[in-house]
Amino acid sequence: MRSFKQEDLVDQIDKEYQQILKQTGTKVIWGKCSSDYHLGLYNSFLNEIKMCSGNNRSLYTAKSVLMHEIVHAHDHIILGANMRDKIQASCSEIKAYGLIDCGKFPSRIYDSQEECILTKLSFFPRGITKEQVLSLMSKCNSYARGKDITDNILIKLQS
Ligand SMILES: [Zn+2]
Repeated sequence: MRSFKQEDLVDQIDKEYQQILKQTGTKVIWGKCSSDYHLGLYNSFLNEIKMCSGNNRSLYTAKSVLMHEIVHAHDHIILGANMRDKIQASCSEIKAYGLIDCGKFPSRIYDSQEECILTKLSFFPRGITKEQVLSLMSKCNSYARGKDITDNILIKLQS
């Protein structure tokens, strides 16, 4: 397990995500989180990512967590997603899992990306059922200003 300095984490993530962070003007802070489950949180009101100190033990985990939260910042600031809207927030969640946490297939743990996303979402229920998530996955594509949310966010930034 590689140790890392919290203040250096942004420099360690993929360049494209560093760019998004600059573009959205999102602040990254470290602090204690109320739950041991939480690794990171995006606060759309403050446009701030809080990384939970103590819970992000490895550099690999912390990088994934930060990039996941950056997807939320991108959806909120660049695509105009309303993160208080259950559907839009869930779509952003599905996208973040799809791009980051469930981005690499084949995997040792999950048979499909869909299974991975469903499993991850079930850890952090937002009051939506599995059936709703499955139907959302197809509907999420067009929720944000008519843009395809499942597109690679990096392509979108170049356009
Ligand atoms: Zn998330």
